[in-house]
Amino acid sequence: MRFEPKPLPYAYDALAPVISEETLRFHHDRHYVGYVTKLNELIVGTPYEEQSLEDIIMTSDRAIFNNAAQVWNHEFFFEQLSPEPELRPTGALLEAINRQFGSVEAVREAMNQAAVGLFGSGWVWLVVNEDGELSILSTRNAGLPMRHGLTPLLALDVREHAYYLDYRNRRGEAMHEMWRVLDWSKAEERYNSR
Ligand code: MN
Repeated sequence: MRFEPKPLPYAYDALAPVISEETLRFHHDRHYVGYVTKLNELIVGTPYEEQSLEDIIMTSDRAIFNNAAQVWNHEFFFEQLSPEPELRPTGALLEAINRQFGSVEAVREAMNQAAVGLFGSGWVWLVVNEDGELSILSTRNAGLPMRHGLTPLLALDVREHAYYLDYRNRRGEAMHEMWRVLDWSKAEERYNSR
């Protein structure tokens, strides 16, 4: 296999009750691993077989793009979650947030609203541009910040497979709860190393 799925960096039950073990098993082992498997199948015999995941994402379209981007998005998503998260940013990121949004709470609320307002499925991202300005980006389906020239700091997965077993159709509640396991120290690392 060209690409290998990455294991979760915590136990399947480590994020309960915010994300149940059952949801995490399906989300990681079926959906994410499924994207990896599908991508590996699709690139056989194409020039993409020799390319990095990022290069595939930047130059492909349709099914190859969708699966490659979902592999990248899910690795980013799972990596930022933690059973012992930092619930607030500090330092330069906190200053930028306060300057642009007023407060961390305002960022959370704006991202939750964007998630609730996203018709169908996709992602809501906190991103930073080349000038260091923060913004919130909604992308449909597998869309992702690198295709917009932006660096992601945090992501909310707005596809039903991310929350439906635990929250049914209550997407707003699911997004609200998600912040209890989102680790701002990951966002800070990404912000400071961009
Ligand atoms: Mn997902």
